[in-house]
Amino acid sequence: MKYSLKQRLTVSYIIIVIASIGFAILFANVGIKNQFKRYAIQKQEKETAEIVNLIQLKYEEEGGFSSHYLDLIGMNALQNGMTVVIKDTGNKTVWSAYEHNNGLCQAMIQNMTVNMSSYSNKWDGKYEERTYTLKLKNSEIGVLTTGFMGPYYFNDEELIFIKALNSILLFTGAASLLLAFALGIIMSARLSSPLTKISEKALALAKGEYRGRITEEVNTREIKILADTMNQLSEALSDKDRLRKQLTQDVAHELRTPLTSVQGHMEAMLDGVWELSTERLESCYEEILRIKKLIGSIEDLSVIEDKNIILHLEKFEFQKLAGRMIHNYENDIVEKNMTIRLNVPMSSEGVKEDLLYADKDKICQVLNNLLSNAVKYSDRGAEINITFVKEEKQAVIRVTDTGMGIAEADLPHIFERFYRADKSRNRNTGGAGIGLAITEAIIKAHGGSITVKSKYGEGTEFTITLPQV
Ligand code: ADP
Repeated sequence: MKYSLKQRLTVSYIIIVIASIGFAILFANVGIKNQFKRYAIQKQEKETAEIVNLIQLKYEEEGGFSSHYLDLIGMNALQNGMTVVIKDTGNKTVWSAYEHNNGLCQAMIQNMTVNMSSYSNKWDGKYEERTYTLKLKNSEIGVLTTGFMGPYYFNDEELIFIKALNSILLFTGAASLLLAFALGIIMSARLSSPLTKISEKALALAKGEYRGRITEEVNTREIKILADTMNQLSEALSDKDRLRKQLTQDVAHELRTPLTSVQGHMEAMLDGVWELSTERLESCYEEILRIKKLIGSIEDLSVIEDKNIILHLEKFEFQKLAGRMIHNYENDIVEKNMTIRLNVPMSSEGVKEDLLYADKDKICQVLNNLLSNAVKYSDRGAEINITFVKEEKQAVIRVTDTGMGIAEADLPHIFERFYRADKSRNRNTGGAGIGLAITEAIIKAHGGSITVKSKYGEGTEFTITLPQV
C-alpha cells in the first residue's frame, strides 16, 4: 500500500510530536516526584530537629519534663503525621502519643497509608521509628522516639497540590497534542501541496502537455527551486515544441511553391503540352537547386536554433576574415559598380586592434549573410561599409549599405524565419528569408545582440555586439 506524501508527513509529524510531548511529560512527572520526595524527607528531618530542640528548650525552662508543654508538642507532631514517645534516662515513658490519644494515632497512620497508596501504587513505604537522644548542656536527659511513614509521605494538602500539578501537566500535554495535530495537518498540506503540483506537472510534461505553470506559493527554498526549474523545463519544452511545429509548417509552405512549379513544368512536358528542351530542363534543374539550397538553410537553422549549440571560441583577426569575405563578392561589386570599405581601428602605436574572440566559422557565416544581403538589396553604385570597433568588454561590428532599405512595417519582422520584406522583389533575388534568422541565432548563442536601423530607399545598418573576455 502506497501512502501519499501528505499522509506520511502528517503521521511522521504526529509521531514526533507525541514522542516529544510524551517524553517532556514523563521527565516533568519524574522530576516533580523526585523533588517532592526530597522535600518530604527534608521536611520530616527538619520537623524532628525542631521537636528535639523545643523539648530540650522547654526542659531547661521548666526544669524537667512536663505534660504542660509535652502535650502541645506531641499533639502538634501528631497532626503533622508523626508520633512521639519520650522516655527519661531511667527508660520511663514521660509522654507517649499512643497513651495520650491512641485512636488518633491509628487514624493518622491509616490515613497516611491510604494517602500514599492513592498517590502511587508503587509506593512501598511502611511505618518507621527513629530515636534521638535529648540533651541538656551535653548531659543526656532522655530519648525521643518518632514514628512516621517512611521513607517519605505526603500530607493531604501536599497530595492535592501534586495531583493538581499532574492534572495541569496532563491537560497541557493533551492541548499541545491537539495543537500539534492541527499544525501537523496544516504544515504537511503546505509542504506536500506544491510537491503534488510539481509531480502532476512532471506527469503532464511526460505526456507532452506543456501548458500552465506551477503558481503555488512556496516558502521552502528547495521546493521553490524545484518548482521554478519545472516551470523553466516546461517553457523550454513548450518552446521546442512550438519551434518544431512552426518549422514543419514553414518548411511545408516554402517547399510547396517551387515543387508545384517543377511538377507543373514536368507534367506539361510529359503531356506533350510543352516541347522537351534543354532550357526547360535547365529551368527545372535550377528550381531543384533552389529547393536543395533551401533545405540546407533549414538544416543550418535547426542546428543553430538549438540552445545547446557548441561554439568553438578562439581569438582571430577580424580584418583578415572580413577581407576574404569581401573578396568573394568582388564580381557582384564590379558588376553593380559598388564601393565597399572595411574600417578597422589602429592603436596609437599603429597596431591594428582587430582581435575578435568568437566562433570564427559562425562569424564568417554571419558576415556572409549580411554582405550578401547588402549586395543583393542594393542598386548600382551603392556603398557598403564594414566597421569593427573594440570596446572594453565587447566588440562591435557594423555593416551599412546605401541600398534599398527596409520599410518601417517590415523592420520588426526581418529576423523572423522565412520573412521577406518585399515578396515580389525577393522572388528575383531568390532569398528564402532564413539568413537573418540564422545570423541572429548565432549572435545570441555568443551572448551578443544584433540590431537593425533602416530607412526605405536610403539604406540599412546592422549592428552586432559581441561580449569579449
Ligand atoms: P533572404 O534570404 O530573403 O535575404 P534574410 O533573412 O537574409 O532572407 O533577410 C530577410 C529580409 O530582410 C530579406 O528578404 C529582405 O527583404 C530584408 N533585408 C535583409 N537585409 C537587407 C538589406 N541590407 N537591405 C534591404 N533589405 C534587407
